[in-house]
Amino acid sequence: MSEIITCPSGLSGRIRGMKVREERVLADRRLAKSGGQVDELLAACWEETLDAGPYDFGEKPIDWGVVLQGDRFFALLQIRALTYGPTYAFAINCQSEACRARIEWELDLAELPCRPLSEESRAALLAGNRFETALPDAGKRVWFRLLTGADERKLPQLRRNAGDQLLSAMLAFRVLEVEGIEARDKKKFIEDLSLRDADFLVDEFDRVDCGVDTGIEIECPECFATQEVDLPFDRTFFMPGKERAARRRGRTSSFQG
Ligand SMILES: [Zn+2]
Repeated sequence: MSEIITCPSGLSGRIRGMKVREERVLADRRLAKSGGQVDELLAACWEETLDAGPYDFGEKPIDWGVVLQGDRFFALLQIRALTYGPTYAFAINCQSEACRARIEWELDLAELPCRPLSEESRAALLAGNRFETALPDAGKRVWFRLLTGADERKLPQLRRNAGDQLLSAMLAFRVLEVEGIEARDKKKFIEDLSLRDADFLVDEFDRVDCGVDTGIEIECPECFATQEVDLPFDRTFFMPGKERAARRRGRTSSFQG
């Protein structure tokens, strides 16, 4: 069971579905926390590279650390769909304070919109993963980068360390340089940014990036409130059987209670 896929950047290769032996990867909590789980799965299920796209692996096998997050996630989705089919069922709680009902939702992964890497972005990536924009309030040019697999590995730690300063930590992580600002003053500059500039910058990150859009709209069957959610990805995404069992247990206990 294998399939040829082309990722948003043009990276193309042959993937296979997950096997029982990947259970070890999926069940390893330590791997999940370090972000290494995704790398292990990609390494296991990517059988060969047919077109390196914008990457240069030389004669070596694919290095998932330099591959864009958008490509990695696209490949993961395809591996998941190849293994279990494109239908993904999950449950979340309604966001309405007054309701909080458990919403069981199901969608077709193949229908999530996917944006290819633009020519402009490909050029910036090839020129050292350096993207330029200008902040409307601060009136300065800034250079930032798209996230790669190596960055993805650092995100759990970044989130832990950032506490309630996640926005400034994320911006500092991705901004390479600010016009007229010394590297040692970058952090302070970012903390002093207007929220409008910060919002603009996050929009710019998204605008030049590629990949699958995981923002979905769902409607609560109890209160009919529509809500924007980011598609949840926990271990059940790769082990739908465990989700099934958890739901069954949930029903049993609610009957007893
Ligand atoms: Zn509701």
